[in-house]
Amino acid sequence: MAEERRLDGNAIGGVMIELFGVEMTTVPGSCGNCGAHEQMAETDVYLDAPGIVVRCRHCQNVLIRIVRGNGRTWLDLSGLSSLELPL
Ligand SMILES: [Zn+2]
Repeated sequence: MAEERRLDGNAIGGVMIELFGVEMTTVPGSCGNCGAHEQMAETDVYLDAPGIVVRCRHCQNVLIRIVRGNGRTWLDLSGLSSLELPL
């Protein structure tokens, strides 16, 4: 994977607001692989993976996959053990 394609979690701020309805870049999440606890802004994001892939900055585990097409969004959160959403 090319270094220049790697962005941080701010790159998906707009998409996450659409999906979750809240500002997500400051939301803490826990990696399901290594247990790292970081804000979403502190992840590695690949926008052309295909779809959007969000990886743990510590172990490169895939935390989130987002694929959009045909008027739908497929959201895979299986790499996260938790997200702490504001009320
Ligand atoms: Zn991790």
